[in-house]
Amino acid sequence: MRPFDYYSPGTIEEVFSLLRKSKNEAKLLAGGTDLVGNMKLKTLSPKVVIDLKRIKGLNRINYSKRNGLRIGALATLTDIHTSVAVRENFSFLAQAAGEVGSVQVRNRATLGGNLCNASPAADTVPPLIAMGAVARVRGPRRERAVNLEQ
Ligand SMILES: Cc1cc2nc3c(=O)[nH]c(=O)nc-3n(C[C@H](O)[C@H](O)[C@H](O)COP(=O)(O)OP(=O)(O)OC[C@H]3O[C@@H](n4cnc5c(N)ncnc54)[C@H](O)[C@@H]3O)c2cc1C
Repeated sequence: MRPFDYYSPGTIEEVFSLLRKSKNEAKLLAGGTDLVGNMKLKTLSPKVVIDLKRIKGLNRINYSKRNGLRIGALATLTDIHTSVAVRENFSFLAQAAGEVGSVQVRNRATLGGNLCNASPAADTVPPLIAMGAVARVRGPRRERAVNLEQ
């Protein structure tokens, strides 16, 4: 693995600031199950790695009849697989999360990482598209809603 600078910011605003300073040389790290493997193989060699795990609240899973299901980008696949709210209301998503890799992988891997890695074989994507899921994507200036199917 090539040497890199590691940052572990506590807020999303700090992430945007680091991304701006790194000028396209940075990669975001969530569970690392895709990114770290690629760095070891040298298929990716970012000069800067920005770890998202210290950002509070991004791992939450909330469900209400009124607002539906909201899953934070840092929720792990184990969180989703074992969530009572997901199991009771979207059992096919809980099942798909439980199919990924192994227990060790699922304990680290996040939903945000599974989506952002953009593998055509990502196991959480078919159930999310079937549910009509919408991603809330945040940038430095604004947030936008993107239908996952798009
Ligand atoms: C042994 C093994 C078995 C696996 N089996 C399966 C399987 O059966 N099914 C399956 O679908 N996947 C599988 N995977 C792939 C992997 O575990 C998943 O894609 C995982 O969900 C990625 O999440 P992560 O948090 O580890 O992402 P990371 O590795 O941290 O990040 C992946 C990519 O997404 C970006 N990223 C992560 N989070 C964000 C965010 N919040 N905002 C913007 N960009 C972000 C990163 O910069 C990086 O480019 C396997 C991996 C391994 C190592």
